[in-house]
Amino acid sequence: MQIEELLANLHTQMIVGGRAVPARSGKTFAVYDPASGREIAQVPDGDADDVAAAVAVAKNAFESSEWRRMPPAAREHLLLKLADLVEQHGDELAALETLNQGKLLGFSRMLEVGGSAQWLRYMAGWATKIEGSTVDLSLSFPPGVQYRASTQRVPVGVVAAVVPWNFPLLMAVWKIAPALACGCTVVLKPAEETPLTAIRLAELALEAGFPPGVLNVVTGRGETAGAALVRHPDVDKVTFTGSTEVGRLIGAQCGRDIRRVSLELGGKSPVIVLDDCDPRKAIEGAAGAIFFNHGQVCTAGSRLYVPRSMYGQIVEGIAQVANSLVLGSGFDEKTQMGPLVSSRHRDKVVGMIAEGRAQGGEIMAGGAAHDGAGYFVRPTVVANEGRKPLSLVNEEVFGPVLVAMPYDDLEEAISAANSSEYGLGASVWTNQLDKALRVVDRMEAGTVWVNSHNMVDPALPFGGFKSSGVGREHGRAIIDAYTETKSVCFAY
Ligand code: NAP
Ligand code: MG
Repeated sequence: MQIEELLANLHTQMIVGGRAVPARSGKTFAVYDPASGREIAQVPDGDADDVAAAVAVAKNAFESSEWRRMPPAAREHLLLKLADLVEQHGDELAALETLNQGKLLGFSRMLEVGGSAQWLRYMAGWATKIEGSTVDLSLSFPPGVQYRASTQRVPVGVVAAVVPWNFPLLMAVWKIAPALACGCTVVLKPAEETPLTAIRLAELALEAGFPPGVLNVVTGRGETAGAALVRHPDVDKVTFTGSTEVGRLIGAQCGRDIRRVSLELGGKSPVIVLDDCDPRKAIEGAAGAIFFNHGQVCTAGSRLYVPRSMYGQIVEGIAQVANSLVLGSGFDEKTQMGPLVSSRHRDKVVGMIAEGRAQGGEIMAGGAAHDGAGYFVRPTVVANEGRKPLSLVNEEVFGPVLVAMPYDDLEEAISAANSSEYGLGASVWTNQLDKALRVVDRMEAGTVWVNSHNMVDPALPFGGFKSSGVGREHGRAIIDAYTETKSVCFAY
């Protein structure tokens, strides 16, 4: 799709109660093309008033007989229809994501569009498979009375979904697909950097036939619209993906309000290479683990542990990959890495690299922003041979920055890998089954990959240990997140 055609047909209003609306204040903010830095749209700067209006329509929709009485098979059908529409509008959605987020067009196509359709279809299947159980009770009072009991799973109600900018469409679908399958209604707040595909998703949901008010999108800033949404008294459940810092604030707020909450937060995921691993495979795997989506991945393999005997060769090999990557617009077929999402994020990443260098990290590749327009950072490899306590070892960068460390003993590597406040992902690279299992058993991480990294699937639970989050998405686990158990007890 031509960029100019896309720009001429942008949909930029919020979707509330089935209608495209501006912010009540009339205010807007700019969104940009990160590959060029040019402004591409103004979107409504929603605030607490807009949130209140959206939550009110979501509550109404939840209580309406049209949605409440809709058979599960009809919800399934609507989600399947939405998956089809996402695919039919795949060219537009992929181009929009590459324009606004900066990722390679092929990844927008495969992950944002293809992944969203896949998740919608998988979750559609759950709509008709939500079930409770019958329970034999031992109650025996008053004498002569018998009891029969069952449990049922009921939708939790109005869901507030707050999502980040790294996979804008897919993260929105990770929230809305299971919530809608369970019979909830949703107010979605996309990240302020990347609101455009969320708006289109809500429009396509209306086209699919979801009743107005079932899926609403409020664009706005985290501190205003986001904060108002997560503390609104008519929100029954908050689901958040983003930084650990903001997750802490939201978790504390929900704790005070006794509101259900799921948190998918940051990571500092280790990649552990074992001594039998083919160096070419280790280099390719570790480079892919960190440079995919320009490092803007919560499970990015940002800490590398390599046996000392292989350390030089592998670090050198990853540095060569980094130096060879072609940076540019995600629309250019030659491009292998696009820009970071915003100038603010680029400056943060560059600042963290400088700090790592000042603390004694050795820059083997990259290390700086890329000249010219756009928010590019050269893929960066930092060698930390002395295993110094660099902030790059402990703090999430969320950019294309790898810190590599040698180890002498596997136990020591496992302990070092686990000595992080985070526990989202980890990978181990080996063909030795016993050692692979030893690492799998010991890793404090929500997902451990063997000979791969960053692989996710709608059937496989995903989430964090420790400060990487609370709760799991995908698979059977997600149904519990959007439903309550109701126990029913009959006396007869
Ligand atoms: P972020 O700053 O935490 O923002 C995430 C979302 O929260 C945005 O929509 C943001 O709005 C909103 N927000 C900010 N402050 C808020 C507040 N006080 N109350 C309510 N909402 C608020 O994260 P980000 O920079 O967009 O995304 C990167 C982070 O997400 C990384 O730490 C990454 O690891 C994490 N992440 C985790 C997963 C996972 O599954 N575990 C997946 C992807 C990303 P604004 O856009 O207006 O700031
Ligand atoms: Mg933000």
